Amino acid sequence: MGKKIIVIGGGAAGMCAAVYAARNGADVTIIEKNTQLGKKLSMTGNGRCNFSNLNMNAGMYNSSAEKRMKGWLSVYGVLDVINFFKSLGIVIKSEDGYLYPVSGQAQTVVDAFRNELKRLGVKVVYGEQAKSVSVIKGNDAENPDNETYSVVTNLNSYEAERVIIATGGLSGAKSTMSTGDGYYICKQLGMSIKDTYPALVGFKADDCEIMPENGVRCTAEISFLLGTEVVAKEYGELQLTSDGVSGIPVMQASGKVVRLLQEGKPIFASINFFPDYDEEDFLSLEKEMLRLRDNRSLLEFLNGFHNSQINEMVIKRMKMGSTMKMKNISESMVISIFDSYRNFKIKLKDSYGYQKSQVTSGGVSLGDIRDDMTVVSHNGIFVVGELADVDGRCGGYNLQWAFTSGSIAGTVASL
Ligand SMILES: Cc1cc2nc3c(=O)[nH]c(=O)nc-3n(C[C@H](O)[C@H](O)[C@H](O)COP(=O)(O)OP(=O)(O)OC[C@H]3O[C@@H](n4cnc5c(N)ncnc54)[C@H](O)[C@@H]3O)c2cc1C
Repeated sequence: MGKKIIVIGGGAAGMCAAVYAARNGADVTIIEKNTQLGKKLSMTGNGRCNFSNLNMNAGMYNSSAEKRMKGWLSVYGVLDVINFFKSLGIVIKSEDGYLYPVSGQAQTVVDAFRNELKRLGVKVVYGEQAKSVSVIKGNDAENPDNETYSVVTNLNSYEAERVIIATGGLSGAKSTMSTGDGYYICKQLGMSIKDTYPALVGFKADDCEIMPENGVRCTAEISFLLGTEVVAKEYGELQLTSDGVSGIPVMQASGKVVRLLQEGKPIFASINFFPDYDEEDFLSLEKEMLRLRDNRSLLEFLNGFHNSQINEMVIKRMKMGSTMKMKNISESMVISIFDSYRNFKIKLKDSYGYQKSQVTSGGVSLGDIRDDMTVVSHNGIFVVGELADVDGRCGGYNLQWAFTSGSIAGTVASL
């Protein structure tokens, strides 16, 4: 029989590690505190599972991880994930480089993992929460590979020659069971944990009065400002809701912005609702519109200009009556209304928090993790997935990391 391996956590990284280890003949048990495997995986990509991206490079990850990611992606990159998915029987497709199962269902991926784990004879213990990992045989300085470990759960204790900790982070709905247990387990083992923050998350507005009651989606450019400094700038489909702002461009910028907000810094989002107009285009649009000033109300006038909900936001921001007749509004006032469509400021209060975030920024310090995913203090313990201090942009990068780290750990653990 091969190496006896315990994988703590049956999410994307843990299941991937278990498959690679078991394919190499290891005796693998997954301990999963939820009643099902891959709960979060089943919710990814709006239920479609954007598992990787053809536009893959280390720059898509947090700056503190970038250098290490280069090496990890060269060992196991996007083509390896594609081949792995094929080996699980999943047919895949690319949408502008974003990779999904053709089925359009994340559950397809979870089911394929479950079937493969079953075929390989991997045991799964459901409903047990790992509490600690400790060394059974004392540290053998001459042969640290001989360490064996005890994994204690709320109900049992298990012995293993290798332990892969894949408990994820803090992001996701309550049902994903993301309560950050791994940070505590790793801390007990002497690892250092970098401060954690929700990432890939939207923001609450400080002034909800001006936000659209029914919510609106629009393509825009959004800049995040600290005073006059632009700390992040993104373009894409925004979602404005009655209490805040989210959508992919906001999520992409959220890593930096959450940290600044938590430090108590005043951050404004400045939205350009005409992102595809350059200065000249916009000025000629303005001119044309100014010629149309007549007996119509401000709201009627603006409704030809942009989306009605956005118009209402602008009118509220300008503190003007929507029924005012255009002919009574001065040209300079109209110009300042138009300008606010290109520089619509929202003061941010806070992020929506871990439960609405897609990934955790921070976690087990990469200084404690070697290139083969073993931890510096123990040759037989591995840390993988979201638990480590790695977070990527929106677009399949976080699942790529889960599979990269999981595959390396599973392979190395089985040797
Ligand atoms: C709504 C949403 C959408 C997302 N969409 C995408 C996407 O399209 N593309 C992308 O790349 N990323 C996406 N992500 C991020 C991605 O899901 C995560 O990066 C990835 O799931 C992390 O994998 P993991 O295995 O490290 O952690 P998880 O998937 O969180 O798995 C950890 C597992 O460990 C278990 N566990 C925790 N503690 C214990 C314990 N003490 N004992 C036993 N078991 C334990 C948990 O129950 C869980 O099953 C999304 C996230 C969310 C929340």
